[in-house]
Amino acid sequence: MTTSITPDVDDGPGTGREALENALSQLNSAAAILGLDHGQHQMLANARRETRVSIPLHRDSGETEVLTGYRVQHNFSRGPSKGGLRYSPHVTLDEIRALAMWMTWKCALLDVPYGGAKGGIAIDPRHYSRAELERVTRRYTSEMIPVLGPERDIPAPDIGTDEQTMAWMMDTYSVNTGHTVPGVVTGKPISVGGSLGRSSATSRGVVHVALEALAHQHLRPAQSTAAVQGFGKVGSYAAQFLSESDIKVQSVSDQYGAIHCADGLDIPALMAHTDLTGSVVGFAKADSIDPQEVLTLPVDLLVPAAVEGVLNRTNAGAVQAKIIVEGANGPTTTEADRIFADRGTIVVPDILANAGGVIVSYFEWVQGNQAYWWTAEEVDDRLGQRMIGAWTKLVATSERLSLSLREAATVTAVKRVAEAHAIRGRYP
Ligand code: NAD
Repeated sequence: MTTSITPDVDDGPGTGREALENALSQLNSAAAILGLDHGQHQMLANARRETRVSIPLHRDSGETEVLTGYRVQHNFSRGPSKGGLRYSPHVTLDEIRALAMWMTWKCALLDVPYGGAKGGIAIDPRHYSRAELERVTRRYTSEMIPVLGPERDIPAPDIGTDEQTMAWMMDTYSVNTGHTVPGVVTGKPISVGGSLGRSSATSRGVVHVALEALAHQHLRPAQSTAAVQGFGKVGSYAAQFLSESDIKVQSVSDQYGAIHCADGLDIPALMAHTDLTGSVVGFAKADSIDPQEVLTLPVDLLVPAAVEGVLNRTNAGAVQAKIIVEGANGPTTTEADRIFADRGTIVVPDILANAGGVIVSYFEWVQGNQAYWWTAEEVDDRLGQRMIGAWTKLVATSERLSLSLREAATVTAVKRVAEAHAIRGRYP
């Protein structure tokens, strides 16, 4: 008997609730297609371990502020859990639960030997000094030491965190363990065991599948246009690689505003501008537009690379892009997915589209374990093979089973995890 599972919400209404509802709704339909029984479905709908910690922060002003941090480890059946650490004022437990579940499916779909996890601290990093962020990161890590480790759970950067955050985490974990443990995090600086190509890997992967999707729709890059929402670690490099592939990136946005240039934005100049000012706003060689408009422009390719739930029932009908490649996790709600399916809009789902990050994180972990480093070319070649291989298989599955790309991806991933559960058996 198949069942439908709804969230046991303890955050109240907030940004995370819809994300968790979407994640569970995707699992519900995969479970129904696969004919999972209620017990199998329940095991996949619930996280294996959820840790919530209180982080007393000594502010530079001398005051103490208490922050809340989370780590949700959704699944360990195929290996240690893996997933980003997010610093954002909107972080809630439900949001982290959804993101952890998506990580499990992403790792299974790409066949990297990990389960899924995600962490977060409800903090707006823009309002804290570097020293305060270091103290927050070190306290969070020390609280989480019992559940982290290269064989337990391996964080990586996400919204609001970067390679410096990972270096502080690795150092805190290593000092407390008594020896250096590079494999406890990925997305580290190269000087402490990071992999070449990791910082731009998610975006490279996005562009690998974007080019495949364009070709599948018989669209030529040089005649194609794109819009990118979010100009952070994923969005900025995605815009750069799209533009290097001859695609005209006409519009980009960030949390402060949006810009547009019909002839295509000069992305290297825009990156220099954002390095200087912290935002795309005010870039001289473009017009300013309403940030919401970025999602509904008449472009061939739309890359949402910011936050969850931005393509939803209120704007999906107005989206004109032919192809959506999900750089962000969970940018499309279930209602928007239905609208896109009815209209024939291709949605390359997050668990494939942005998997380049976890693939190269896996390469970083493998290189660290072997203490042997690959060249940037080797990393990029292997990343390309995995992304394009996964795209080709996904298209074949979706055509064979008459499912959308997201349904086919979720079914493939859930099946692999359910098989791992079944073969390992239940203990006790
Ligand atoms: P980031 O913090 O580096 O950048 C986020 C960007 O989004 C910033 O430009 C910010 O201004 C913008 N933004 C935030 N809210 C916005 C809004 N409402 N409208 C428009 N722009 C907005 O984060 P990131 O690492 O680039 O992550 C972006 C997305 O990609 C997230 O969903 C993340 O989970 C996902 N992701 C990241 C990685 C990775 O390797 N960093 C891997 C896989 C998926």
